[in-house]
Amino acid sequence: MATGRYDLIIVGGGVTGSALLYIMSAYTDISSVLLIEKYEDIGVLNTSPSSNSQTLHFGDVETNYTLEKSVEVKSQAERVLHYSKLLDTEERSGIIRRCQKMVLAVGDEEVESIDSIYSSGIRKVFPGLKRVGGDELRRIEPNTMRGRDPGQNVAALVSDSGYMVDFSRLSKSFVNRAVRNKSIKINVMFNTKAETINERGGDYSVITNRGVFKTRFVVFASGSYSLLFAKIMGCDKNISIISVGGDYYISRRMLKGKVYRVQKGGVPFAAVHADPDINNDSITRYGPTVNMPLGLEVREGTFIDYLKSFSYDIDTLDTMLRVVSNEDIRRILFTNAVYGLPFVGKYLFFENEVRKIIPSIKYEDLRYGKGMGGIRPQIVDERSKSFSIGASKLYKEGMIFNITPSPGASSALASAIDDMVYISKMLDLKVDRRRLESDLGEVSALDR
Ligand SMILES: Cc1cc2nc3c(=O)[nH]c(=O)nc-3n(C[C@H](O)[C@H](O)[C@H](O)COP(=O)(O)OP(=O)(O)OC[C@H]3O[C@@H](n4cnc5c(N)ncnc54)[C@H](O)[C@@H]3O)c2cc1C
Repeated sequence: MATGRYDLIIVGGGVTGSALLYIMSAYTDISSVLLIEKYEDIGVLNTSPSSNSQTLHFGDVETNYTLEKSVEVKSQAERVLHYSKLLDTEERSGIIRRCQKMVLAVGDEEVESIDSIYSSGIRKVFPGLKRVGGDELRRIEPNTMRGRDPGQNVAALVSDSGYMVDFSRLSKSFVNRAVRNKSIKINVMFNTKAETINERGGDYSVITNRGVFKTRFVVFASGSYSLLFAKIMGCDKNISIISVGGDYYISRRMLKGKVYRVQKGGVPFAAVHADPDINNDSITRYGPTVNMPLGLEVREGTFIDYLKSFSYDIDTLDTMLRVVSNEDIRRILFTNAVYGLPFVGKYLFFENEVRKIIPSIKYEDLRYGKGMGGIRPQIVDERSKSFSIGASKLYKEGMIFNITPSPGASSALASAIDDMVYISKMLDLKVDRRRLESDLGEVSALDR
């Protein structure tokens, strides 16, 4: 059995944990970090390109965000762009690529909705965002208009910040850069599962299937499991998660870029959208759907853990009832449940979702994306009695727990910087602020 002592242990080798490993190694004087991942490689769960929509979310075409949320998401996504500029052309092109991106509005109600967003403060945040009508759409994304009823009202907001990202390659790039730093002891262990944690006098023992490792600070970057560990460690009982699965359908490549659909404000998940695949130029992906799997992740049977990560109290019940009393959320849950039915499900998905984006697509063009999709940990916040949009952090002395629904991959570097600021204060580490800000942009949290 292995043992060892580290300044910091990171549990989870997705984009959240890898980003933190990189940030700590590149910009602080930490002496030793251990990253443990229960699977065989970096970025194989939600971070994998087959699990998510590969979008660098900027908040410009996400009509369910408030303006405040868009501003926050934009600044987080910009960290990824800054990072990509540190890479050579070959590495960068495998990780991140520009592509056209828009939110398409179909019918009077949706067009009114994007027009009202466009005439509000959004252009101050995204001056490059353009409102286009059907004629312009016919030119820039022809298949959104081919075969469409000429009487249908159609418009789109077209972004100048469209990027597709292979977040798994991004994570590997973080780890490769971290381990190149020979002045720090860095250990990355695969097939190593954290089972439990013991604390004694500010010292933590992380007990794994491959040994016990001691540390002064633990960060859980374990997706849905972060919340389960938080509950085990007695931290914050005010949130629960429900698992929201998302699958994809695919066709041959029918669109140039990303086409998002209008989503109602306050609904935490994006409406079904169409995306290119960074690793396969010949397909277009449609999704994700919204389903309710009884587990925390796609690779392991995790039903019991799912039950354990839920709070069974009156506040949670009250919050859930309030959430499902929201008509839009109820409609999404119901229609997506229908999409899951054998035979009719695919047909209704095709009719209601895909043909709204590409009216001329044929039923035979669409097939189920086998092996694609993931499970988002949707946060149920008992304090605000609602579903939260985006990632969440819980803190307990010597520990951070990162829970990361979409757009958690886009915000991973920003989250890592926040964690670094906190950890550096706790462990009395020096931060190379000049280099950090020159590489990744201003970090105002360092002034607090
Ligand atoms: C359908 C779908 C579409 C999405 N689309 C987008 C998108 O377009 N853009 C975007 O920004 N985000 C998107 N997201 C969200 C994004 O994928 C996640 O927020 C992000 O990948 C989270 O990264 P992570 O490292 O926190 O989690 P993960 O990638 O899930 O990594 C967690 C890691 O922790 C490991 N782990 C768990 N428990 C243990 C343990 N006990 N011991 C050791 N290791 C452990 C797991 O094996 C895993 O590798 C999407 C998510 C889904 C499901």
